[in-house]
Amino acid sequence: MSADPNCIFCKIVAGQIPAKKVHEDEQVLAFHDIQPWAPVHILIVPKRHIASMVDVGAEHQALLGHMMVLSGKLMKDLGVRNGYRHVVNTGSDGRQEVPHLHMHVMGGPRPWSKG
Ligand code: 5GP
Ligand code: ZN
Repeated sequence: MSADPNCIFCKIVAGQIPAKKVHEDEQVLAFHDIQPWAPVHILIVPKRHIASMVDVGAEHQALLGHMMVLSGKLMKDLGVRNGYRHVVNTGSDGRQEVPHLHMHVMGGPRPWSKG
């Protein structure tokens, strides 16, 4: 599925809901989390709708690698100098709230509000 009309992140990708974007390319969009845990808290999402890591297959290897490699560049661009955390929540036991695959990337000086 390329877009789910009920999905909040598909709506952000389509520009139907505003977001503070930090990066966009053919494959992904990155934007600031609306309720940040850390001084810098971004989400990197595939533009195509993939519900979660459960739905990822071999055809997504390059996409996931791109998200991981991009995360370091974006943290550097955003001035994060002292390390950062990646979090990917999957499914209900993984406490995933938005069913569109996303990578949280969090950094900046401690203390953080969560995590
Ligand atoms: P999850 O628990 O699914 O891994 O995390 C979803 C994240 O998406 C949460 O950190 C939440 O703050 C963020 N989020 C939910 N809705 C919106 C939104 O409309 N805009 C932005 N920028 N972030 C959102
Ligand atoms: Zn979606």
